[in-house]
Formats: sequence, C-alpha cells, structure tokens
Amino acid sequence: MPHEPLDIDQQVEDLIRGPQYALPQAEKDRVLLDVLRERCHKIALVCPAYGRFLDRLGTPPETWRSLADVPLLPVAMFKHFFLTAVPPSEIVRELHSSSTSGQRPSRIPIDKTTAFRQTRALASILKEHLGGQRRPYLVLDAAESAAAGDTLSARGAAIRGVGNFASQTFFALRKTPEGDLESDWPAIEDFFRKYAAQPILLFGFTFMVWTRFVERAEERNLQFNASQAILLHSGGWKKLAARAVSKEQFNRRTAAVLGCSPEAILDFYGMIEQVGTVFVDCASGNKHAPAFADVVIRRPHTLEPVAVGEAGIIEVLSTLPASYPGQAILTEDQGVLLGVDDCPCGRKGSYFRFTKRIEQAEARGCGDTFAQAREI
Ligand SMILES: [Zn+2]
Repeated sequence: MPHEPLDIDQQVEDLIRGPQYALPQAEKDRVLLDVLRERCHKIALVCPAYGRFLDRLGTPPETWRSLADVPLLPVAMFKHFFLTAVPPSEIVRELHSSSTSGQRPSRIPIDKTTAFRQTRALASILKEHLGGQRRPYLVLDAAESAAAGDTLSARGAAIRGVGNFASQTFFALRKTPEGDLESDWPAIEDFFRKYAAQPILLFGFTFMVWTRFVERAEERNLQFNASQAILLHSGGWKKLAARAVSKEQFNRRTAAVLGCSPEAILDFYGMIEQVGTVFVDCASGNKHAPAFADVVIRRPHTLEPVAVGEAGIIEVLSTLPASYPGQAILTEDQGVLLGVDDCPCGRKGSYFRFTKRIEQAEARGCGDTFAQAREI
C-alpha cells in the first residue's frame, strides 16, 4: 500500500476536528473537491473495479470542477460487489446493511484509519447538537442489537456511536423467547425515576421508538417529565408512513411521553455505507451536511443537480472512507433541497429534507463494469 500524502489526510483531520456547520458552500466545495479528487485517484489504483468504473463510466479526477462532477456509485453496488481498497489483513471490521426480504446486504470493509475517522466524525457532529456533556443514555433497543463483533449492523454501529456521549448506558427493550422485541417497563421506569430531572439522551430506530416505546407508553398513560431529554432517532419513515404517522405527529407525541420539547426529538439520516457521516435535524427541522461531507440532490432521469426547492435523489459525498470507494454514493432515497447557506438556524452549506425512500431500477451498466473486473 502506498502511503497517502500527508496533506489530504491532514485536511480530513482538520475538517473532522473543526466546526461542522461553519463553512459557506462555495468554500466547502473547493476544500472537499481537492480531497476527493486525490482520494478517488488513489482508490482507483488499488481497487481495480473502481478504477474500471472511473475509466468507463466516469471522468478523470483532474477534470472535476465541482462536487457534482465526482462520479457517483449507486448504493446497490455494495450489495453486489465487495469493493475494497485494502488487503484483507487490514480490514478490522466489516459493516453490513440489514438484509430485508432475501436481499443481499451491503458489505463495507473498514480499516483502522477509516474506523477511527468514522468514530470521531460522528462524535464531532453529535457534539454540535448535544453539547460536550456526557449523559445517562437509554437505548430504545435490546442489548443484543449493539453487541460487538467482527461484523456490525447499521443498528449496532449507531447505538455504539451515540454511546460516546453516554455516562452510563441502559437498554429499554428486551428480546422475547420468540425473538421479537418488547418494552422492559421495570428498566424504563427505573431509568426515568433516577435520571428524569437531569439531561439525558435516548436513541432508537424510528419504528422501534414508535411501536415499542411511544405507543406502549401512551397505552399505559405514562409521561416521564424528562424536560432535558434529547431523543435521537434514525432508520427511515417507510414503515411509519404506512401507519400514517407524520414527522410532526411523531415529534409531538414522543415529546409528550418524554416531557420535553418537540425540538429535542432529532431525526438523523445516515446509512451503513457512510458510517460517521450523518445528517441531523437542526432546530428548523432541516438537515445540514457536516464539514467533511456533502449532499447533492439529483433529478431522477438526468441526474443533474436540482435547483433550490426541487426534489430528487439524494447523493452523499464523504471524505471519511479510505478503505472502500464510498466517496460519492447515490442513495435510494428522495429529498428536497431547501437552500444554501441561509437556513434560519444559522448553519452554513446546503440544507435539505429527506422525503421518502424510492424504489429504483439499478444501474445495469455499472454492475456490468464491476462484473468484468471480477472476472479478471
Ligand atoms: Zn438549519
């Protein structure tokens, strides 16, 4: 493995360590583009499938003029191909997406450098939303979901990442003998009895928070008077949309159960292919990209970047990955670009809202390109 020049690693380091929402978009474009150009070039040299992809379907890094020019990889490619830029001996962990209904999960190889960056990047983002203080942490999930190992699910990675802000960790759910999850009311009530009066932190997957905590607490008429609680949740709205629960309703009823402000209910958007790169709601309910990453929202048919106010497919760019070609990933989610540098919350850069998950046809040409690379 050739050594990367110190400067791009140092730049990523500075971006992770610095303020997360302070760079105006134009300046951010310039800084990130320099890093991504160099990183993609290096990954292409050691990941033949990615090199082939850049040759056949992309453009050479030196010709990229904006972040939108970085060739994007459809997220499904990580399900079909094991895309790695490091030898097996350097992989410290493999991240897996949860595989639903017979789908193959994504496999993301993580080396030491990338793991270290992901952890600190997530901590740096959350610090801007939670402050530096550690808090008693109630995970709205079962302890088994966060168990450590050589592989880690999206759920486990998020539970552990948020756990960096914990003074002590507690679990609100337990596994039933049938393998389902149920609320552990004695544990939950004990947690709130001890800690409701102080700043606390809760995290869970959106659907679990709703079906195993909020709805069940409402049935029991429970309210916890935790006025300084912050609840982070993640994992998408698809299942809740099917139950006709809006984001507004989710925030209001969850806040009512906890006894906090609806503004303390924070949705964050992230994916296993980009651990550490998360997009947390600001007080205005919008999502901003952190300093080391960005989003481009693209028109579904032409893949041109959308104008402000327009909806499209969300692309996530990140400078964190060094062990796999995850620099520019086209998701299967739809969002709307709301503005640039002028969110009422004061944070700079582009800001957007997630709207829904989309079912899209996979980019066949891309798969064929990797398949050829694999045969060699
Ligand atoms: Zn904002």
